[in-house]
Amino acid sequence: MFQTTIQREVSTEGVGLHTGVFGHVRLVPAPADTGIVFRRTDLDNFIIEARGKNVARVSYATSLMKQGVLLSTTEHLLAAIYSCGIDNVFINIDSIEVPILDGSADPFMHMLEEASVRRLRKRRRYLKVLKPLEVVEDGRRIGIYPADEFLVKCFVDFPHPLVGRQEIEMRVSQESFRRLLARARTFCFEREIEPLRAMGLIRGGSLENAIVLTNDGVMNGPLRFDDEFGRHKALDLIGDLALVGLPLLARVEAHRAGHALHTQLVSRLLEDTSLWTVTTEDGMPAEHTHCAASPEQVPAAD
Ligand SMILES: [Zn+2]
Repeated sequence: MFQTTIQREVSTEGVGLHTGVFGHVRLVPAPADTGIVFRRTDLDNFIIEARGKNVARVSYATSLMKQGVLLSTTEHLLAAIYSCGIDNVFINIDSIEVPILDGSADPFMHMLEEASVRRLRKRRRYLKVLKPLEVVEDGRRIGIYPADEFLVKCFVDFPHPLVGRQEIEMRVSQESFRRLLARARTFCFEREIEPLRAMGLIRGGSLENAIVLTNDGVMNGPLRFDDEFGRHKALDLIGDLALVGLPLLARVEAHRAGHALHTQLVSRLLEDTSLWTVTTEDGMPAEHTHCAASPEQVPAAD
């Protein structure tokens, strides 16, 4: 397998969920070994790599910070890019927060499909997990285990008549992500809205970009899936795992986890180099396409 970037520039714009700040995002092709890199075009193209070392504070969304420069709510865009098997891309953004759009990764998937995948000349490098690692905290846990492909299992349990226990298990690819997760939206509980506002969060939140759960139902239905909440949590998980910085050959299991636990797992994994190796072998038989992204038939280029 070869590294990839996008074939052409694509863009979108919108308000950030937490800051309420309007911003423009443009994806730009990048050379091999660049990785996924944000560029704050409002700050002289300041670069923030989408890597575990740049994870800042994490509560209701994942934020990156480098030298005091912040970038919030990266998870939905990164989930789409990572699942599409895009190894290298610049994400130009002129604000502090990635637009929330409709609260799902679906608009980003459409954007990536419009951009289409371009194969580069360099071999793709995978981070292959060799030994398990688990992070446990107050009945929440997440673990990463050796596997020959990228597998995710996500379990949620919210005491609400429309949620309860939901579990998603999948092999991550562009096709499975599009079909199972991309359209699942952000959600919150009505009773959380005032406390979150008081914390200075969800300033850009609306019934257009988040499902709001009342005590016994949903304020702005219909749901896109019966288990949209579990699917959205799996989407968030994949977006946070993108911060590993390379495609994963591993199985990840999250049990009532969230951004804080996801990013702790990524940081601890990257810190302990005895747990993994970097390989150009994807572990698949030659006819098996590990990444469902289908490069256009164009000359490979760096
Ligand atoms: Zn989310």
